[in-house]
Amino acid sequence: MNSMLPYADARQKVIEIAEALRRTPRVETIEIEQAFGRVLTREVRADRDYPPFNRSTRDGFAVRSADAAAPGARLECVGELRAGGNFVGTVAPGECVEIMTGASVPAGADAVAMIEHTKRDGRTIILDRAVKGGDHIVPRGSEAQAGALLVAAATRVGYAEMALAAQAGSTRLVVSANPRLAILSTGDEVVDARANPGPLQVRNSNGISIEVLARTAGAEPIQLGNAPDEIIALRKNIERGLEADILVLSGGVSMGKYDLVEQVLSDLGAEFHFTGVAIRPGRPAVFATCRGKLVFGLPGNPVSSMVTFELFVLPAIDILSGAAPRPVPVFRAKLATPVREKGPMTHFLPARIEWEGREARAIQLPWQGSGDIVALAQANGFLVVGPERPDIAEGEWVEVLPRRGAI
Ligand code: AMP
Ligand code: MG
Repeated sequence: MNSMLPYADARQKVIEIAEALRRTPRVETIEIEQAFGRVLTREVRADRDYPPFNRSTRDGFAVRSADAAAPGARLECVGELRAGGNFVGTVAPGECVEIMTGASVPAGADAVAMIEHTKRDGRTIILDRAVKGGDHIVPRGSEAQAGALLVAAATRVGYAEMALAAQAGSTRLVVSANPRLAILSTGDEVVDARANPGPLQVRNSNGISIEVLARTAGAEPIQLGNAPDEIIALRKNIERGLEADILVLSGGVSMGKYDLVEQVLSDLGAEFHFTGVAIRPGRPAVFATCRGKLVFGLPGNPVSSMVTFELFVLPAIDILSGAAPRPVPVFRAKLATPVREKGPMTHFLPARIEWEGREARAIQLPWQGSGDIVALAQANGFLVVGPERPDIAEGEWVEVLPRRGAI
């Protein structure tokens, strides 16, 4: 199969295959502090009603609304309630209780008058404004009732979910183990980033970018270093990579004489789901399954491997973690400079996205193509130019994809 899929179709293919391959994930029980970015396999439920009592949301006076239907009501203050405090008794007609934010509204009262709208005359409180039943009270159980679902299984946990779990006392969470993602760079010319390269060698930068992309996406990276463009060594390294859940290769998937990744995968019995995508950079990207594992052959050019990782590897990580695939987070910006691209491709062009007030503007950055990470490091996103729009004038709306972590 050598056809080039539109990138949305290629992504959909990854999603379908990953879902078909997904097994019940291995699980771990972890402390809540460690849960950011992890995927729940057991839901979090409310241990009691939330709020657990009728909670005042203001500092003021707990009143009976029937006493305060019109401005100017005069009520006798018969007590004080701080957050965590208990008022013994009932607020009777003509009475009120001074109350603080977070305290439980006492029996008899059904509204809170804000302190800013009151005057005090000894024990008498004068309400400047009318008060309605329910004002400034969040009723018991209105956020969630005891036993209600708070955070569903398959949710990737963020700070809000962590706070909610803490509130409910779920301080140990059951999550899926992060899928293991083996990273194998290929290329005779590639040397370790810490090595001293010869004049015609390049340091392995994809190893670092793929590792950090994998880790921040929720995978457990396993770094396999670099393999030369040589069948036996490549095969040995690929077989090691296939011990992980996902294998991500970089390089060796183009049409060159020494681009051997597809051949070696083929020898190992791989089934190819695509061997090209209608995107630039990233056109030669390969997706296969081999020995029950997902294999991505990303083009070696550093920007190509980053873009194709975001588009295709990310959803696979989500699915093998037991979560729904994250959408590609494109948004709209106004083009600051005209763009002209050709060919039936979707282009991902390094761009600087800036905000003028609430409006995003995209400025395409000059670059030397998909090897140019000098330009990419200046960019905080990509201009996404689809095949249907080869020429776009300044001031038109375009799609942009943020560079993860840069915006
Ligand atoms: P390839 O996809 O193997 O044809 O490689 C395309 C380009 O990316 C070549 O210029 C390679 O030298 C370069 N390249 C391949 N692998 C890496 C890597 N791990 N780090 C940096 N550059 C690479
Ligand atoms: Mg190569």
